[in-house]
Amino acid sequence: LVSRKKKPENTVIDIKGVKIGNGNTNHVFGPCAVESYDQVAQVAETVKSKGLKLLRGGAFKPRTSPYDFQGLGLEGLQILKRIADEYDLAVISEIVTPTDLEQANDYIDVVQIGARNMQNFELLKAAGDLGKPVLLKRGLSATIAEFINAAEYINSRGNGNIILCERGIRTYETATRNTLDISAVPILKQETHLPVMVDVTHSTGRRDLLLPTAKAALAIGADGIMAEVHPDPSVALSDSAQQMDIPTFDNFYEELTNLESRLKA
Ligand code: PEP
Ligand code: MN
Repeated sequence: LVSRKKKPENTVIDIKGVKIGNGNTNHVFGPCAVESYDQVAQVAETVKSKGLKLLRGGAFKPRTSPYDFQGLGLEGLQILKRIADEYDLAVISEIVTPTDLEQANDYIDVVQIGARNMQNFELLKAAGDLGKPVLLKRGLSATIAEFINAAEYINSRGNGNIILCERGIRTYETATRNTLDISAVPILKQETHLPVMVDVTHSTGRRDLLLPTAKAALAIGADGIMAEVHPDPSVALSDSAQQMDIPTFDNFYEELTNLESRLKA
């Protein structure tokens, strides 16, 4: 169903009136994790001031260590919902179980399925049944074919509102947290009709690489960028090394929009 051979036209995903795909680019910014109302509100304020509509924030955090911050859970989703209403934004948050998915339906606009759950087939089916737009991240060591099959699971349950997100893969290279597979973008766009985003935060794990990789992603045809923004990354409860503070984000976004207008010209 997701194959370009089945449907030659690009799919456009509509999230509260925000379109992604077929020449419509839109980006997702926000903190790694929802930590408090004030923390998310500060980022929401910045996102809104730029005329952007999509805000991310993790409430269920899949952490490598069980002793690291696990997210606020339902309380985090409630904060996101309040922010979405107050700032008129659409919110994206990762959900990790089919049960939480049903509960999350009332709070979020886009369901994120994280890298670690890309092949959690029961979760994929449940996200398909829910029918809400899904941002599906590529698995840590997933091939492009496996990634496309994961999207197919969601679509096979009648939900074709899927955004694919390249977020770096595991290689022998240690200079970056993961290796951004930039060629996955045009391959995914050739093989499927779905929009493709690039998460520069988790692919690089390095603040100094966010802008160059985001530029590369736009230049190669990505339909949007995901990056993490925190009012004070030094005290962030997760991903402290790679989130942007607000002045850094201001510069990042300005450079990104400059490139976008040059690419469109
Ligand atoms: C995230 O976006 O919050 C996240 C945990 O990313 P990934 O699943 O790509 O590691
Ligand atoms: Mn993160």
